[in-house]
Amino acid sequence: MWPAFSPAEEGVRDAIRAFLADALPAARVPLDDAWISGFDPAFSRRLGAAGFVGMTWPRAYGGGGRSYVERAIVTEELLRAGAPVAAHWVGDRQIGPALLAHGTAEQRDAILPGIIRGELVFCLGMSEPGAGSDLAALTTRAVEDGDAFVVDGQKVWTSFAHQAHYCYLVARTDPDAPRHRGLSELLVDMRLAGITVRPLVDMTGEHHFNEVFFDGVRVPKRWLIGEKNRGWFQIAAQLDYERAGMERLLSYAPLLRDLEAHLRAAGRTRAPLVRQELARLHTELAVGRLLIYRIAWKLSQGLTPTAETALAKLYGTELEQRLVRFAAQVLGPYALLDGGAGVPLGGRVARALLNAPALTIRGGTVEILRNIVAQRGLGLPRV
Ligand SMILES: Cc1cc2nc3c(=O)[nH]c(=O)nc-3n(C[C@H](O)[C@H](O)[C@H](O)COP(=O)(O)OP(=O)(O)OC[C@H]3O[C@@H](n4cnc5c(N)ncnc54)[C@H](O)[C@@H]3O)c2cc1C
Repeated sequence: MWPAFSPAEEGVRDAIRAFLADALPAARVPLDDAWISGFDPAFSRRLGAAGFVGMTWPRAYGGGGRSYVERAIVTEELLRAGAPVAAHWVGDRQIGPALLAHGTAEQRDAILPGIIRGELVFCLGMSEPGAGSDLAALTTRAVEDGDAFVVDGQKVWTSFAHQAHYCYLVARTDPDAPRHRGLSELLVDMRLAGITVRPLVDMTGEHHFNEVFFDGVRVPKRWLIGEKNRGWFQIAAQLDYERAGMERLLSYAPLLRDLEAHLRAAGRTRAPLVRQELARLHTELAVGRLLIYRIAWKLSQGLTPTAETALAKLYGTELEQRLVRFAAQVLGPYALLDGGAGVPLGGRVARALLNAPALTIRGGTVEILRNIVAQRGLGLPRV
């Protein structure tokens, strides 16, 4: 059954598995939702040095010149292993491709090598208190003043803003234009004066996202990405990369593997309901995997399969939530304990339960994705 991987692709899988066997301690608890919760700059640098970051980018910039299928193989293995990949994830996934599509030679030279080495951390400054699904409602302004844009406004839910070197910011540069036509993208050095980052602690008790305030921040004009006032159209392609990856399917693959081992050891996988639900989850995961490899193959052909990426994220994240729900059902009251002697999986299910609602919100809600599938995929009318 497709995908049948080529010998070169199988070689990439062998290489990343060998890397992980060497780089990760044997006795460790794999991370769930590792691309958000596993922030480890040293691991990202090691991965970069081994050639697993910027894999699809041109060799001229130090990239690997490989296909998106090969990249998907690597990300699949990293997530299945629960490796700490958060520090480089956003840069590798979408900032590099955005700069390759719209950046100047100066911007690419300045940024791409640092991403490839696994050194640079990025945050995405899109959502605002009054602009989430309806991103075009954003009010953060960037006003030209001499050689700079002066940025004023507020972003929210900004993952990694407290650790990021740069913010990929979307701001309004023409308040008089129709709202989709007055937006621009800026790469903002997080050390600039006037930026305040305030932590937001989520239901799990962890801090990964933030509020970010911009107060008269002078961003040199050379950090405008692409064309002024064309930001909306540039973002659309970037969201394809943001939504199309294995991280929208396999965030809880380590949990499922360890849960299964626990159930097997307890002799519970023979129970018909447990067996049936495990079979269902594995079948659905296999379908999701095919979908993501199909998108990766299309990206390698230079296609932008927007409706399919929306479908993949919608399908994958709802599946992840079913997986977490199953884990909670099968563990019963133990699922509510966040650790302690004898608690199966050390309380990971409790954390997963609290984190699961975010899966179908971050990166675009399932309702918005259904709208994209309906309009862009099925050609249904807007109502
Ligand atoms: C864990 C996490 C990390 C995040 N990280 C970032 C980040 O790094 N950078 C960033 O910019 N943002 C980030 N976000 C924000 C995220 O992109 C937004 O939360 C999301 O786009 C929804 O926007 P909102 O929260 O304003 O909800 P709203 O847009 O107010 O939506 C509320 C509800 O209304 C529904 N709705 C809205 N419009 C429609 C419509 N037209 N049709 C049908 N239903 C609709 C939505 O689906 C949702 O259920 C993050 C969010 C989470 C949960």
